Amino acid sequence: MKTLTIIKPDDWHLHLREGLVLKNIIHFTSELFGRAIVMPNTKNPITSIDSAISYKKSIVEALSESSKFEPLMTMYLTDDTDKRELITGFKNNVFFAAKLYPANATTNSSHGVKKIENLYKIFESMEDSGMPLLIHGEVTDPEVDIFDREEVFIDRELSPIVERFPKLKLVLEHITTSYAVDFVQENNIGATITPHHLHINRNAMFFGGLNSDFYCLPVAKREKNRLALRSAATSGKEFFFLGSDSAPHLRKWKAFCGCAGIFNSPVAIESYLTVFEEENALDNFEKFASLNGPNFYNVPPNKGKLKLVSKPNKVAEFIDVVEGENIVGQIKPFHAGETLKWQVENISN
Ligand SMILES: [Zn+2]
Repeated sequence: MKTLTIIKPDDWHLHLREGLVLKNIIHFTSELFGRAIVMPNTKNPITSIDSAISYKKSIVEALSESSKFEPLMTMYLTDDTDKRELITGFKNNVFFAAKLYPANATTNSSHGVKKIENLYKIFESMEDSGMPLLIHGEVTDPEVDIFDREEVFIDRELSPIVERFPKLKLVLEHITTSYAVDFVQENNIGATITPHHLHINRNAMFFGGLNSDFYCLPVAKREKNRLALRSAATSGKEFFFLGSDSAPHLRKWKAFCGCAGIFNSPVAIESYLTVFEEENALDNFEKFASLNGPNFYNVPPNKGKLKLVSKPNKVAEFIDVVEGENIVGQIKPFHAGETLKWQVENISN
């Protein structure tokens, strides 16, 4: 039986939602991860210091008493973002980073930015103060094919930003293409990679009929892109780090209106580890999961450890959302019903 002990990982891109869903799912992340960057696209997006403080409070209240998990908050950039609010929040450790969603790029992003150039003054201040900018890198121009939206974003929007703000700390989130893999390395920026983009290509959305279980944004792309992502993630290179983009939707909504997002936090570590093992790169897993992110963000790695063991691990078909004694909803996890080969054996703080 193989075992692997790594420094406790961090999740550098996570959706925790609110209310009952938050309370039911937070433990999947807080038990295994030291920190997570929490995305600000809640129903009312996190666009102010006050809203970030109260959202963080609701997250901390949902944690168990002994938990040492640290949620890292982000501010949602809009056309009306107040530069002073943003930078003050960063300097006072309310915000860890700012998140840029092009308007309507994904779930709850209708408040996103319509014209990115209008934020250049804000980027200038972020560059000066060392505040990281996290980017959902897709154009939303309806004339651009959905499978090309990341590449077009890189050419149209990201290249000019990188050129104009060479010291701005940039992360291209949940990359999905070999084009992004190359761009990230050539321009020395950071990138998160999700477990699902390492496992599925775009065929998964059409398996057994139109299948919303594998619909996320950015959508999975062709097989050659998946392979490029696998080799980037497992390379151990400093640009690439863990960001699950776990995004729960209640079953009834996912099945009914096919919302974008894959809920992988119950199996994220095991899912990534499967890929690293298949690529003969278990030695690089700690870099991807626990070291490259802290190195990029200039924070110390976690003190705790995670011990993993290669044992069959049957994934539940559904995760129940409970309120008191009652099951009030269900969320389908990534790898539902599959048996993964790894499981967590021991966690130390
Ligand atoms: Zn996301």
